[in-house]
Amino acid sequence: MALDHFVNEPDTDWSLPENADWIEGVLNQWKGRCIDLTPQTAFPNSSETSDSNIATCFDPSQPEVPVCQYHAATVQEVESAVTRAANDETNWSNTTLEYRHQLLRKVAQNLRDRRGDLIGVMVADGGKTVSEADPEVSEAIDFCEFYPLTVDHWFGHQSIRVRPQGIVAVVSPWNFPLAIPCGGIAASLAAGNRVILKPASQTVLTAWQLCQAFWDAGVPKSVLQLIPCSGQTAEQGLINNPDIDTVILTGGTATAKRMLAVRNDLHLLAETGGKNATIVTAMADRELAVKHVVQSAFGHSGQKCSATSLLLLEEEVFNDDSFRELLADAVESIRVGSSWDLSTRMGPLISPPRAELNRGLKTLEDNESWLVVPEHIVANPNLYRPGVKWNIRPGSFSHLTELFGPVLSVMRFSRLEEAIAIVRSTGYGLTSGIESLDDREIQLWRETTHAGNLYINRSTTGAIVLRQPFGGVGLSAYGPGVKAGGPHYILALMHVENTDDLN
Ligand code: GLU
Repeated sequence: MALDHFVNEPDTDWSLPENADWIEGVLNQWKGRCIDLTPQTAFPNSSETSDSNIATCFDPSQPEVPVCQYHAATVQEVESAVTRAANDETNWSNTTLEYRHQLLRKVAQNLRDRRGDLIGVMVADGGKTVSEADPEVSEAIDFCEFYPLTVDHWFGHQSIRVRPQGIVAVVSPWNFPLAIPCGGIAASLAAGNRVILKPASQTVLTAWQLCQAFWDAGVPKSVLQLIPCSGQTAEQGLINNPDIDTVILTGGTATAKRMLAVRNDLHLLAETGGKNATIVTAMADRELAVKHVVQSAFGHSGQKCSATSLLLLEEEVFNDDSFRELLADAVESIRVGSSWDLSTRMGPLISPPRAELNRGLKTLEDNESWLVVPEHIVANPNLYRPGVKWNIRPGSFSHLTELFGPVLSVMRFSRLEEAIAIVRSTGYGLTSGIESLDDREIQLWRETTHAGNLYINRSTTGAIVLRQPFGGVGLSAYGPGVKAGGPHYILALMHVENTDDLN
């Protein structure tokens, strides 16, 4: 099948009553359940699991409730995992693309068949709402179906010889605990690599369910290994290991820099931070702009690299009382609560706010004021109502710092060029949005904005495989600049053999 015939997996249609009943049943099965993964995560032949390396994941909606226990690998165990991958007896790197494609199709089918459990597990350890978790399953399925097609697209019908790179370490985040690791794994396997997955320590249960879908499809356990461990252990045992050929990281800019400091010859494909803005000009459909901005800023409580956290308003919009009211009303009416409750629109943070987010939620500088005051909901240290900070200045803390939480900071501008410069001065360049119905404005913005994903009159989150390949520039990315969910991603995971016997 050619790439342009690729069809994205549809999300669940929640308007159908049977789907609402179905998901309620799923949530009942997952809520309050704790799964012991200690035996499954203990490395074969490793020393006995002792209390010192048992770790626990908790439910962000009810933070005292554990959702799983697992064996956190030691540096020696991580090194043994790499050796096991290096000695792969299944000869995975010599399998044919057709074979790997078939397996990945089975993985996609497993994910499809397990959609309910995958949503349930992401609510449990990631604190995701059902409406945020459901499209993540679709995206994971897309990755499995899409990446083998891209290998075929570039190499299927030519005599060019390609080799996989070898062993890829996928270091994945908690905010997209299914789709992001699934993308890294699927791309690496499609290209013939072996994979070690080091998931975020908060979402090991989701990572476990994901790997199960690969193993059940027939991917050998030495070809895909799940190795939960601390970041420090991963740096020593995995990143610093010369047998690791490539690292796919989705995480903080600081983490990427640390990895490169640990090993400066590292082949790193990293999607890192963002300080994304949406510009609303006087030529925008203002109601639609509010809808898009609220979705972009507060989906998953603002915990997306793609989230809009700066809102730049042209003077006329900034001074428009009805726009301000509309924005305030829209934010205040977001229903905040437990992700187990189907009526919740914004669930908890993964953990109590870190120092920077805390500062962003609690302090004002200079002329700033709150249009909507963010509020902590006392029953749960992770739960906050969203806030909107009004009239922040260029160069301020809220302008330049990635907060990764439910605060939107509003600035004013008088000329579009000025707004574009303000956005660029963050140094990040992941997503960027404009709300305008004027083609000249859009063209100017498009030509001068420095970001990987440009969105016009649409939210800045929710990139769709093939339609919006995802990845940034500037401080938002490290590596060869390929984009997740795009046709070129796979090229960073293979070597093309340049032989002279091609003709
Ligand atoms: N791909 C996701 C989106 O478009 C964001 C991923 C991330 O937060 O790293 O919203």
